[in-house]
Amino acid sequence: MLSDQQLLRIPGPTPIPPSVQRAMSQPMIGHRGQETKELLKSIKPKLKPIFGTEQDVAIITGSGTAGLEAAVVNTVTPGDEVLVIATGAFGERFVKIADAYQIKTHRYDVEWGEAVTPGAIKEYLTKYPAIKAVFATFCETSTGVLNPVQELAKVVHSHSDALFIVDGVSCIGGVECKMDEWGIDLLVTGSQKAMMLPAGLTFIAASDRAWKTIEQNEQPRFYLGLKKYRDNLEKDSTPFTPALSLLLGLEQVLTLMNEEGLEQIHERHRLMMEMTRAAFRALDIPLLTSDIAASPTVTAIKPADFEAEALRRVLKEEFGLAVAGGQQHMKGEIFRIGHMGYCSPADVLQTISIVEISLRKIGKDIELGKGTQAAQEIYLG
Ligand SMILES: *Cc1c(COP(=O)(O)O)cnc(C)c1O
Repeated sequence: MLSDQQLLRIPGPTPIPPSVQRAMSQPMIGHRGQETKELLKSIKPKLKPIFGTEQDVAIITGSGTAGLEAAVVNTVTPGDEVLVIATGAFGERFVKIADAYQIKTHRYDVEWGEAVTPGAIKEYLTKYPAIKAVFATFCETSTGVLNPVQELAKVVHSHSDALFIVDGVSCIGGVECKMDEWGIDLLVTGSQKAMMLPAGLTFIAASDRAWKTIEQNEQPRFYLGLKKYRDNLEKDSTPFTPALSLLLGLEQVLTLMNEEGLEQIHERHRLMMEMTRAAFRALDIPLLTSDIAASPTVTAIKPADFEAEALRRVLKEEFGLAVAGGQQHMKGEIFRIGHMGYCSPADVLQTISIVEISLRKIGKDIELGKGTQAAQEIYLG
């Protein structure tokens, strides 16, 4: 194994395209100078179609969780009631943030591996009319579930006046999103998942309705106060020193995304998901989620007759291939393959083939090539 070869197939951080790496190594620029102004001016319109919004997308230096916290502190105050739909570890993160700010949190738990049923939320909202905001996870990274946010938005708006707030950290950029059309009031993503950058930026956009709430919300906040970011962005500027190297990388990411085209990007992610799922099916190894609930960006596999952790060890130690394990109670129960951002069908074929040989190494009796062949056949259509 090459000591410096990383086959990074975890659901974030994800590999960085070489041209983005090069863009990030450009000499430093002044954050109040013309170069940064031009940079933000160029970035601004290109982020909007990725979110599916006409609103400006604020860029905050911080990991994805900073964006989630911004979503909470800008919209609700202690004592307000919110509903958090928790379909896994990242839904729970919203619960923890809301708890930290003494928000009255209703928690709607969905079994890990399943997507939320919008109908159930309807009943909840009717029962608790004081709920001011509903928080949901678009792609639940801990299980590889893509929640039906479009339908959820519909349910939230037709049965309440609550804001609909979405964590899209592990899928925005890799899946279609129509924030305005679907009725998402606040959408958050991060840089290190489908956006092909290192960790360090969080992106957040708000609807006109959400802006009204944000302007009136009395919850104290400083660094995460969204209004500052909006007012500065209008002037192609930021309230604090931005992560300039990441912005230089972002500019190149947006160029790459523009060259490939958003529809093609979404199609590539869907294809990678189908190739991955077909491979494990052919090998007779269970998937955690149903086809309907599956995310195009990450796949969770739930082995019945071998140790997920033993497989992960061989993958990493012999081939330098990193896949993720399970979180919390799913630790040791599942492993997760990220196929998002700078990842192609070629990478998926490599991953499957390495998984096959490693399965043999840990003593699982499989026919070599069976999974790879299934993935190849999906590729060929
Ligand atoms: C990665 C991720 C986050 C953010 O995590 P950070 O480590 O703070 O960047 C939030 N939500 C989801 C769904 C994620 O996958």
